[in-house]
Amino acid sequence: MARVFNWQIGREMSYWYPGSRPGQQFAAVFDINKCIACQTCTLACKTTWTSGKGQEYMLWNNVESKPYGCYPLAWDVKLLQMLDGQNWNGRVYEGQTIFESAPAGERVLGWRPESRDYAYPNVGEDDCAGQVDKGAALSLPHHNWFFYLARICNHCTYPACLASCPRSSIYKRREDGIVLIDQGRCRGYQECVRACPYKKAFYNPMTGTSEKCIACFPKNEQGLQPQCFVNCIGKIRLAGWLSTPDKARADNPIDYLVHIKKVALPLFPQFGLEPNVYYIPPVHAPLPFLRQLFGPGVDDAVSAYRQAPKDADLSGLLCLFGSTEKAVWRWSRQGDSVAGVDQHGAQVVRVPIREPVYVRAAFDAKYQVARVNCP
Ligand code: SF4
Ligand code: SF4
Ligand code: SF4
Repeated sequence: MARVFNWQIGREMSYWYPGSRPGQQFAAVFDINKCIACQTCTLACKTTWTSGKGQEYMLWNNVESKPYGCYPLAWDVKLLQMLDGQNWNGRVYEGQTIFESAPAGERVLGWRPESRDYAYPNVGEDDCAGQVDKGAALSLPHHNWFFYLARICNHCTYPACLASCPRSSIYKRREDGIVLIDQGRCRGYQECVRACPYKKAFYNPMTGTSEKCIACFPKNEQGLQPQCFVNCIGKIRLAGWLSTPDKARADNPIDYLVHIKKVALPLFPQFGLEPNVYYIPPVHAPLPFLRQLFGPGVDDAVSAYRQAPKDADLSGLLCLFGSTEKAVWRWSRQGDSVAGVDQHGAQVVRVPIREPVYVRAAFDAKYQVARVNCP
């Protein structure tokens, strides 16, 4: 085991391979507050990448309702129980990661779901946590809540799938940090399925190999955002590149949200993989639940997001989500609009922070008709 630094848990940790960060790291921010669970992202990926034989059950992108939803069944609860705890001291995780708590002779603490665990991708959908069944929803105050958690592979800095593969079939690309499975080398041992704590590696029984989200790298190479991003109805997603905290740039949109505003957080940082998909937490959900999901930065993130209406830069940047198919490398706000440029410095999008509102007279005297103010 090598020693590597994981900034998300604020300390060094053990990992199977020495640290080797890519030149650029593909990363994304999902604003959970805006997701409506329409599953358009799920279908966008499905129809693009997993419509073949043996892929029927696979959802490289899935959206589950928290707290009860999970695909595959109990993917999160099971590992949290095995990992035993939430031992944070401020921003430093003092518990063990899944690499440090691996049983003797194994590289990662993991478990492999059974086939039937993948059979209920919408289990728990829209189920409310709280007191509905006790009738309390009929009186105030009440604490009924749920939210939608969209999930893809996190293209982790320290991937458990990669660490666990006995064939060295999994690699992290130097140029963009995207994690891929070499289909020519894979022999279908399914160690990656067992090791990935997010359960985002899948076994294809028809090909006898494992597969996973590829971050739509053919689009990425053309400066475009992935399918599940550009098709997102709620405009909750923004893809880009993440620097390490010491190299964060305010004009890099992902850096700004993750490192500078600290409004976007990793999913289960305590697992120790340094995942590269970041979530703006749902501000209406209970903080204790959110802390075990996103770590100790949740309180500040929720507070920053609540301040967004008074924060022209943050609210402006949030307007760039879902505004263009092009990958946005740098962003800036000029007055009431916000712009994004590509890697060559060419502007690819400009959007107003506030849309103008036109109210028409209910009765149009010229044409003698009554109108409604609906689009
Ligand atoms: S398309 Fe967007 S809004 Fe719809 S479920 Fe997916 S992430 Fe949520
Ligand atoms: S989320 Fe899972 S499959 Fe994706 S890189 Fe991380 S460990 Fe591998
Ligand atoms: S990034 Fe591409 S491959 Fe990955 S889940 Fe989204 S659509 Fe599928």
